[in-house]
Amino acid sequence: MPPNSTCPICARFDASLTFDLRDPTTGDETLCHVGCPRCGNYRIAERDGEALVKHIPQTLDPDRADEPRHVDPGARAAAFPLDRLHLVSGYLRELTARGRDDTMVSAESATTMADAAPATVPERSERLLLTLAAMSESAGKRHNIHGPRDRSLAYCTSGGELMFLLHHLLQDGLLDGPPVRSDPPIFDWAAVSLKGWARVEQLRAGSTSFAQAFVAMTFDPDLEWIYTESIAPAVQKAGYQPLILSRQEHADRVDERIVLELNRSRFVVAEFAQHRPSVYFEAGYAVGRGLPVIWTCRVDDYERAHFDTRQYNHIVWRTADELRDRLYTRIKVVVG
Ligand SMILES: [Zn+2]
Repeated sequence: MPPNSTCPICARFDASLTFDLRDPTTGDETLCHVGCPRCGNYRIAERDGEALVKHIPQTLDPDRADEPRHVDPGARAAAFPLDRLHLVSGYLRELTARGRDDTMVSAESATTMADAAPATVPERSERLLLTLAAMSESAGKRHNIHGPRDRSLAYCTSGGELMFLLHHLLQDGLLDGPPVRSDPPIFDWAAVSLKGWARVEQLRAGSTSFAQAFVAMTFDPDLEWIYTESIAPAVQKAGYQPLILSRQEHADRVDERIVLELNRSRFVVAEFAQHRPSVYFEAGYAVGRGLPVIWTCRVDDYERAHFDTRQYNHIVWRTADELRDRLYTRIKVVVG
């Protein structure tokens, strides 16, 4: 990592970098904790950060970072695609706004983050409104917005693009604030309006980004029916999208992908058949994050349940139909 304060994702010079120096005898990677005004707070292995920074052409003035960058075709092939880094920046800023500031970035998780970015202009406009709402501890909270710094709030490539989206949210009455100035792209302040809050509630109820249910269970193919016959239908009937990571997908850097998907999920279904350690890890992580966890366990496995989780109210089930029906009811009660 360079000795200055350069953000490895967006190359701003005013980020704060602190290093978590692990015991070098174990060979663990050195972790860098980054606080960037544009990308928010995240963690990156020193080696990955260096690889990124090396390929980002740096501008001398962070406020001129909106100018088109010269991209060396050789560098593009060697590092994460530069034209997708703004999506990673947007994703991290959004997670930071929701209070998650230790997201781990690697080449693999950066790809997942960029893939998860909102694809269309209307979606990005909605995400901007949701993020401003997430950053508001109280109604009427005024946010100072600076285009080049805050373009990540809407996954934009320039401050001007952010001003365009803000202008239209203001025109539609979803934000309060003074008129937008495009040149320079600075918006004095913006607050989510009462009409905006109504829209936020609508979006929260139906938003795909809040509709994912993470399913933690054994990978044993002989028990896949628990997912296909019970858990998936119950989750879908309740209006959510189940996500289960297959054994193959997790083979590499298992923790990052799991943590990333857990962070994007509304709740977790943890099925304890065979008592896989990964299920305990995923459920424990979700509890620590304040996500609702619905615990299920087949009756013959229940007696062997780990002591620490017996305190939770498991759905102890005997048949696929019973699990499906009871899980659906539990989701509606616990999550809504
Ligand atoms: Zn940054």
